[in-house]
Amino acid sequence: APGGNVRVVVRVRGFLPREIERGAECLVQMNPATEATTLLAPNETDPANARSKRGKTIEDKKFTFDKSFWSHEKKDPHYAHQEEVYNSLGEEFLDHNFEGYHTCIFAYGQTGSGKSYTMMGTKDQAGLIPRTCHDLFERIEAAHNETPNISYNVRVSYFEVYNEHVRDLLVPVQANQPPYYLKIRESPTEGPYVKDLTDAPVKNISEIMRYMQAGDASRTTASTKMNDTSSRSHSVFTIMLKQIHHDMETDETTERTARIRLVDLAGSERAKATEATGARLREGSNINKSLTTLGRVIAALADPKQQRSGKRNKDVVPYRDSILTWLLKDSLGGNSKTAMIACIAPSDYDETLSTLRYADQAKRIRTRAIVNQDMIS
Ligand code: ADP
Ligand code: MG
Repeated sequence: APGGNVRVVVRVRGFLPREIERGAECLVQMNPATEATTLLAPNETDPANARSKRGKTIEDKKFTFDKSFWSHEKKDPHYAHQEEVYNSLGEEFLDHNFEGYHTCIFAYGQTGSGKSYTMMGTKDQAGLIPRTCHDLFERIEAAHNETPNISYNVRVSYFEVYNEHVRDLLVPVQANQPPYYLKIRESPTEGPYVKDLTDAPVKNISEIMRYMQAGDASRTTASTKMNDTSSRSHSVFTIMLKQIHHDMETDETTERTARIRLVDLAGSERAKATEATGARLREGSNINKSLTTLGRVIAALADPKQQRSGKRNKDVVPYRDSILTWLLKDSLGGNSKTAMIACIAPSDYDETLSTLRYADQAKRIRTRAIVNQDMIS
């Protein structure tokens, strides 16, 4: 089917040492049978949640998503490991890529909720990005023997959007040199793209892993220099998969192209306009622009009036109001199969409620993915 809703899943992480220290209680419950996620009203004795309760009655809130990943308690039989997140989402999306569809998976949530853990992971606990890379090349290698009439071409790019600037993560940062920023262009056929972005051909798993690690290191280097930019920057890891199929009988050559986009968004708490004042507001308002615009784009796309009218009014969806939404336009409301992973902390009532509401809205978005296939001779 060409139309499909954005797949929305939620994942809750375990307690961090600072949460154990303050005696935090877990406010999240998940029912593995129904995929229901419940956010419980906090106890007033927890200082971190006392404010959300003051002066009002708070009720438990219940949500249902396509999948609820319980990653809170390792001892629990329902504990969702990195492997399960990949098996239930990443693997299927890679199937779609081989069918010729563009896909996008993005992680949303407050800083410290597990976005980077889910997307990139750690050395021992690989996340969606490295697992996708491994699976991709495993499939290509297997196909070499089974279907010798298909050849493959893989390219990778990695950039971040910080303060409405695009930085190429595959270009090493020069010591004591300001980073240089890239411009956005729009092509009538390909849509918006980053001009002069490194788009590296990769032949095997070790090559793609080297780029992935170099890009990640570049993100971290800049972030320690510039006071934790990583929580304020959006990173976009993209793999382009081309399959060139030669039909021996008809002597026709067709090409299938799929874009695999994996996005680690900035911390959602930055989207709140009330947070900053003065000089910080000026800096903050720019940093927030991509995330606040993403919220407006999602709200516009989820609006039932939009869906009923059948056509998407370009003026109504404010893609062009920020760099991130402009670049991700296709992934959000166009030719793509798209999933959102809502990452939540176990004991932050207000932030978690806001993330769950955001995710709930994203469920209503429909995209229109097509197989990207062309006859080339
Ligand atoms: P974010 O990218 O959203 O700011 P991180 O991914 O850096 O958050 O996660 C914050 C901390 O929690 C990190 O130390 C990370 O390793 C840990 N963490 C997050 N999710 C999990 C999980 N599912 N299992 C174990 N540790 C996790
Ligand atoms: Mg992170």
